[in-house]
Amino acid sequence: MRVGAHASIAGGVDNAVAEQREYGGNCGQIFSHSPQVWQDPDIGDDEARRFREATADHDVGPWVIHSSYLVNLCTPKADLREKSIASMQRELDAAATLGIEYVNVHLGAHTGAGVEAGLDNAASALDELDVPEGVTVLVESDAGSGTKLGDEFEHLAAVLERSEQDLEVCLDTAHAFAAGYDLSTPAAVDETVREFDAVVGLDRLRCIHLNDSKHECGTNKDEHAHVGEGYIGEAGMRALVNHESLRDVPLVLETPTEDGRGFAWNIERVREFRE
Ligand SMILES: [Zn+2]
Ligand SMILES: [Zn+2]
Repeated sequence: MRVGAHASIAGGVDNAVAEQREYGGNCGQIFSHSPQVWQDPDIGDDEARRFREATADHDVGPWVIHSSYLVNLCTPKADLREKSIASMQRELDAAATLGIEYVNVHLGAHTGAGVEAGLDNAASALDELDVPEGVTVLVESDAGSGTKLGDEFEHLAAVLERSEQDLEVCLDTAHAFAAGYDLSTPAAVDETVREFDAVVGLDRLRCIHLNDSKHECGTNKDEHAHVGEGYIGEAGMRALVNHESLRDVPLVLETPTEDGRGFAWNIERVREFRE
């Protein structure tokens, strides 16, 4: 089973591998730079080589680069669109340098342009990327606050359909739950997985962000809880971890770290849930 967490690249990107192993994880995610500001990844050749070697030596992977929170592919504003495309391109190039398979991105917000125009904007922005060999863009499901898109599976399917890139999908369980897809019982997980398969296709699912939710289903509020401790709860998490269609999908945790129970505790919990 592949399960890991979001790891820090402080002190060098290669430190993320050691950190992941300390958590007990064997796959994971990083930011290539601070995600709250427009900033280029600054990854030296030596640390990139050490990252690739450590990843291979310890069989850690797949890795995902989570793109900047400022990226908005749906935006109707030309300047923000150009900045977003340029930022995504640098994430893709960093992924190629590091031998990382996936770059994960939220579609962003249409900010008044409307759902269809927003989805068109996202698809055409993605089409401007020069995706390196061996790297794939994952479109992440969203909680759908404000005018953000990607909360409905139909949005993800539309972008996959309209873009010329070979896109795949990352399903964030806290986001999907907040967006109105119930995951709190085995029957609800079954139903949501069936719906995802019918609309997007399970063959496009490359990563799951396994997060519990601090808010109830359908609230569109994006706040993550420890695995089994939120409104998805233990029954829902057990069903997700053991669902026959999801068993081979890498699980990446973005659970809280500020209250004493960190990633190691959550990863161990996931392993305990696996039957
Ligand atoms: Zn995300
Ligand atoms: Zn996520």
